[in-house]
Amino acid sequence: MDIQALLNISYLIAAVTFMAGMKMLGSPKTARKGNLIAAAGMSIAILATIFLHEKQIPLLIYTLIFAAIALGTFTGWYIAVKVEMTKMPELVSFFNGMGGATAALIGLLEYVHNTDSTYKIAMIVAGLLIGSISFSGSMIAWGKLSGKMRKPVRLPSYNIINTLILLLNIALAVYIVAERPESPLYLYLLFALALIYGIMFVLPIGGADMPVVISLLNSFTGLAAAFGGFLYDNMAMLTGGVLVGSAGTILTIAMTKAMNRSLSNVIFGGFGDTGGSGGGESIQGSVKSVTPSDAGILLNYANNVVIVPGYGLAVAQAQHTIHELEELLESKGVNVKYAIHPVAGRMPGHMNVLLAEANVDYDKLVDMDDINPQFKNTDVVLVVGANDVVNPAAKTNPSSPIYGMPVLNVDEAKNVIVLKRSMKPGYAGIDNELFYYPKTSMLFGDAKDSITKIINEVKNM
Ligand code: NDP
Repeated sequence: MDIQALLNISYLIAAVTFMAGMKMLGSPKTARKGNLIAAAGMSIAILATIFLHEKQIPLLIYTLIFAAIALGTFTGWYIAVKVEMTKMPELVSFFNGMGGATAALIGLLEYVHNTDSTYKIAMIVAGLLIGSISFSGSMIAWGKLSGKMRKPVRLPSYNIINTLILLLNIALAVYIVAERPESPLYLYLLFALALIYGIMFVLPIGGADMPVVISLLNSFTGLAAAFGGFLYDNMAMLTGGVLVGSAGTILTIAMTKAMNRSLSNVIFGGFGDTGGSGGGESIQGSVKSVTPSDAGILLNYANNVVIVPGYGLAVAQAQHTIHELEELLESKGVNVKYAIHPVAGRMPGHMNVLLAEANVDYDKLVDMDDINPQFKNTDVVLVVGANDVVNPAAKTNPSSPIYGMPVLNVDEAKNVIVLKRSMKPGYAGIDNELFYYPKTSMLFGDAKDSITKIINEVKNM
């Protein structure tokens, strides 16, 4: 068999593993295996690209390639092992930026060798344009999420300025493809302009909206890689790019839907400012504060308990403790489930990942649409560091910024216990009238601390 055929077969195997891996990522039960399968496919594709070459490559180049792979692998592994769960979105943003930069580098390196083909120059220009936007945009998103750039920066008429820069990018890209100038200078100019656009595009967006932006940039990186696949006629690169591009797009749509926002509202609006007031009217009334012992009694004598995890669960790192409480209650004959809201936390699947880390049984995690009709028959809802996703204003108050966002109907349960540290609002920056309902009891304090105290109380009953 000739080398080219072997290379193509390797790419075919890689492409199949990407698709199989992607499918398996759809369920927490198979996600880890899916990730490993796709990574194995990627390794096959990389090794095949390095070794199945008809041209002779000097030993020094092999050494450099493997040194780079070793360095990259170690750095990636080290960062991924060390990262805290709450810092995951910024890590994803950083890694995504690296993908965009790689796609842009391909364009910068390949341009001068391909000026004889309009098709190849079109692929190079598209990959470079989109990859560069994704790179600089992701770096700004990373800065915002890691708290290095707190405030959104909005120049006057920034929407007009940004549209003009984008049009300039497109005009230059069309010119390069049509004229295919020998000198790469125009391409360098496009590279610089695209980087500027990426920065300008993400700068005005509020820090808390970054996860939506990251998933959009993620789809850009996939698209840029797919253009690389067309350029090299490389099936593995093409399939990988298309999968990342389409997954990123689907995720972006799912997130904006779950937040009841349009993508244009995220990009052109200003809702996502961290710590913004959110525009909600402040609620008059008093709240009922309870002790861990009161909460323990309610939980111990309930038949059905639903736990609603939110961003505060991640902050408190209380996933193991809540699992312990769930097992304790189950051992006492209480039926316990978890209600999972699609945008609870700060990234898609945040709660699923956290609870999986604590080995919570997947069958206990119930999606919003399935759990909502069950709240009527629930004795106690235990809200652990969740706020916006249980705010009834989303259903009842048309002037609320979150009006229309689907929420968990915890207000329909017989009793609600809320674990949080203060009366401070969550991400949307608005008050929550649930905390003032007569059926609601507030247990103030760090979630992990409060749950530990409840466990001790329940154990003694
Ligand atoms: P929220 O941000 O609404 O509320 C989290 C609550 O947790 C806060 O009110 C805070 O109150 C409490 N908290 C923080 N730390 C602790 C702690 N150590 N112990 C106990 N409580 C704590 O979170 P939700 O999960 O309810 O909602 C997610 C929000 O994020 C939604 O508005 C969603 O639209 C948005 N979002 C989600 C994305 C996603 O992909 N999941 C992406 C982008 C935005 P206190 O300070 O008083 O303790």
